[in-house]
Amino acid sequence: MRTDFLTFSPPLIGEEEIREVVDTLHSNWITTGPKSRQFEVEFASFLGCSACVSVNSCTAALHTALVASGIGPGDEVITTPITFVASVNVIEHVGAKPVLVDVEPDTLNIDPRQIERAIAPQTRAVLPVHFAGHPVDLDPIEELAQNHGVSIIEDAAHAFPSKYHGRFIGSGKNPAAFSFYATKNLTTAEGGMLTGTPDLIDRARVISLHGMSKDAWKRYDKGGSWYYEVLYPGFKYNMTDIQASLGLHQIRKIERFQSRRRQIVQMYNSAFGEEETLELPVERREVEHAWHLYVLRLRTETLRISRDQFIEELQLRKIGSSVHFIPVHLHPYYRDKYGWKTQDFPVAYANYQRMLSLPLNPRLTDQDVADVIEAVLDIVEMYRL
Ligand SMILES: *Cc1c(COP(=O)(O)O)cnc(C)c1O
Repeated sequence: MRTDFLTFSPPLIGEEEIREVVDTLHSNWITTGPKSRQFEVEFASFLGCSACVSVNSCTAALHTALVASGIGPGDEVITTPITFVASVNVIEHVGAKPVLVDVEPDTLNIDPRQIERAIAPQTRAVLPVHFAGHPVDLDPIEELAQNHGVSIIEDAAHAFPSKYHGRFIGSGKNPAAFSFYATKNLTTAEGGMLTGTPDLIDRARVISLHGMSKDAWKRYDKGGSWYYEVLYPGFKYNMTDIQASLGLHQIRKIERFQSRRRQIVQMYNSAFGEEETLELPVERREVEHAWHLYVLRLRTETLRISRDQFIEELQLRKIGSSVHFIPVHLHPYYRDKYGWKTQDFPVAYANYQRMLSLPLNPRLTDQDVADVIEAVLDIVEMYRL
């Protein structure tokens, strides 16, 4: 057994990132400026998207996208219970009503057929989440959205980089919000990016910085003017150049990070593939998975222990794991406000009770991966029914 505890998802920061941060600190400009702009340029060129704006979190990107899309009181936004609660909090922030629909049993992504049933005259948008980095089935959602005149705003927090029918998530015309939180595939400690059409991103840039017609860098730089106008009571969501310093090097390493993630997924899949007590994550043919999370599901009817006990057993073997996510409808605020019952979203709830996320990040050594595999198989052997 391991002697040291294996942390679930530590960041992988190299000397390049550290030098860039120090360079920024030695410069005259530490907040939004040339490096945030450069990061946007490199991010857009990686994805092949037409425009993007860097912000200080994915939550900020989602909130900005809802405001820029004109969504507010009286509107409904359809989303999934299997997400981090930020996806739903932002709907509350604009005064709209979140409408949850259940997920597909294989990917745990929002189920397009359920969306169709939930569309009402008040529906203004669908907010799908590319759970774990597996793209949602966008084609049928696009078709529904077109037929009913509703927008799609993608929560792409897990989806950098992933592809649907050969195209990067976030490279199309839907606004897509990415997260650079410490545990995500690319990190700036805290940070986010919103991609979309140039028109939407122009508005988002204004909304995300006080609603000002010109940003500070343009005002204070050579030839800048002191004059600006406030066009909207906007937010303070800008990314700093210190954060962008991390992003600039993380994005240059992302292909390497991703190939290591895929290797680890293969090691897990081949170790667990024959084990009838375990259900492995899927990757549908038409997608490229970002493998942000490796979500293992227990066939609890074949085991003498619950998922919670399984996690405790992993902890005893010094392996960190987690659960993504506690379904939105179980959180007291949402449960009480909308009267949601546990069984309202049966696929989400049943899977929540039997899922756990194993460590998956490019810092894992082959020995770390072997330790996780050994621990999982040991627990399974011990508690098999
Ligand atoms: C991490 C995460 C977010 C929020 O990202 P922040 O950058 O921390 O705001 C939103 N949605 C999902 C699905 C996430 O996992």
